[in-house]
Amino acid sequence: MGKRIYLCSPHMGGGEMKYVQEAFDSNWIAPLGPNVDGFEQELCAATGAKHVAALSSGTAAIHLSLIMLGVGPGDYVIGQSFTFSATVNPIAYLGAISVLVDSEPGTWNMDPELLEEAIKGLKSPSSAKASEGREGLKSPSAASSFAEPQRPLKVSEGRKVERIKAIIVAHLYGMPARMKEIMEVADRYGIPVIEDAAEALGSEYMGRRVGCNSKFGILSFNGNKIITTSGGGALISDDAALIERGRFLATQARDPAPHYQHSEIGYNYRMSNIVAGVGRGQLEVLDLRVRQHREFNQWYRELLKDVPGVTFHSEPSPDFYSNYWLTCIVIDPAMAGTDREKLRLAFDAANIESRPLWKPMHLQPVFAGCPAYVNGTSEKLFENGLCLPSGSNIDEEGRARIAEVLKREFKM
Ligand SMILES: *Cc1c(COP(=O)(O)O)cnc(C)c1O
Repeated sequence: MGKRIYLCSPHMGGGEMKYVQEAFDSNWIAPLGPNVDGFEQELCAATGAKHVAALSSGTAAIHLSLIMLGVGPGDYVIGQSFTFSATVNPIAYLGAISVLVDSEPGTWNMDPELLEEAIKGLKSPSSAKASEGREGLKSPSAASSFAEPQRPLKVSEGRKVERIKAIIVAHLYGMPARMKEIMEVADRYGIPVIEDAAEALGSEYMGRRVGCNSKFGILSFNGNKIITTSGGGALISDDAALIERGRFLATQARDPAPHYQHSEIGYNYRMSNIVAGVGRGQLEVLDLRVRQHREFNQWYRELLKDVPGVTFHSEPSPDFYSNYWLTCIVIDPAMAGTDREKLRLAFDAANIESRPLWKPMHLQPVFAGCPAYVNGTSEKLFENGLCLPSGSNIDEEGRARIAEVLKREFKM
C-alpha cells in the first residue's frame, strides 16, 4: 500500500526558508518584527483588504472581531450552522447565544431568506414575551422551526433584535456565500457581518476577493488550509481603526506607558515573526495553489462526469469563483450504487483520507440548546456528502490511486 494521501497537507512553495532565515540572521525571533509587517502588507495585496492584522489563529480573529462588535453575555450572534465549530465557538467564549442558520443548496452557505427569518424570529411576539432568558427561543427542532408560519414583523417589538450583535457567514470549502443578498438583509436590520474566509483565501465574489464584503473578514493559515504558516490567522477590514484596535487587544491591551498598565482585558493573539516568514513564502504561491486546486477539481469532474447520482459543490454563476480548497461531492445512494460511508471506507482501506462534510452545529451535542433555523439542507449534505483529497502536492501516482478507488466503487 502506498503512502497515506491526505485531504490537503502543507505544500511549501520554496521561498519560505529565505524569510525564516532572515528572521534568524537578524535575531527577530521574538513576536512581531519585519516578517509580520511584510506579511500583513502582502496579505492586503492578496485580498484587496485595506488593513490586516496577523494573528495566532483564525479562531482568535473571530474572537477579537466579536469583542470589537461589543458582544457580551446574553447577546445573540447569528452563525452559519453548516461549518467547522471554530466559526461559532468564540460566541460561547463571550457568554453570548449562537443562533444557528442553515444553508441554501446552491452555495452550501448561509441561506439569506432563513437569515431574515431568524432575525424576525427574535423579534416575534412570542420571543419578545418570554422576556427573560432564552425561553422564547428554545431550540426549535428541525421540522418545527421551518414549518411554523412566520409571525408578522412588528417594528415595535424590536427589543430583542438590538441584542443581535453580529452575523457570521462562512465561505465553505472555498465557495463564496451569497454575500449580496446576505448584506442586504444585514443592512436592513443594521447588523454587522463577519466573513469567515478561513477556507476561501483566493476565492472571489463578484470580482472581489472574499473577506472584503463586510465589516470584518477572517483568514486561517492552519496546517490543512490552501496555504499554511503551520498555524495562524488574520483579521482583515477596510477600517483602519478597527484593525489597530485588534492589534492592541491581541498584544495584551497594553496602555501607552513606560510601565505595564492595562485598562482593558487583553489577549495574546499575535503572530510570531518566524511564522509570518513561512506565510510570506506561501503567499508567493497562493495564485498558483488556487489554479492547482481548481485544476484538480476539474480532473474529478471529468473522471466522474458519467456517474449517476454524483453532484459536485459548484459555482452557481460566474459571480462565484471558488479556490476549490476541497473538492466535495454529494452521493445519491439510490442512483450511485454506493454511499458516502462505503466510499470513505474504500478510500481509507487504500490509505487515502476523505471526510464527511461538516456536521451541522445544530446537530452537535454542545450546541443542542441553541436556537436553530433549519431547512434540511445541511443535514442532507452531512448525510451524503464527502470531501475528496484535494492537495496540490498529490502527484500523478496519487491521482491514479484515487481514480482506482472511485472506478471500483462507482463501477465505472
Ligand atoms: C480552519 C477554520 C477556522 C479556524 O481557523 P484556525 O486558524 O484553525 O483557528 C474557522 N472557520 C473555518 C470554517 C475553518 O475551516
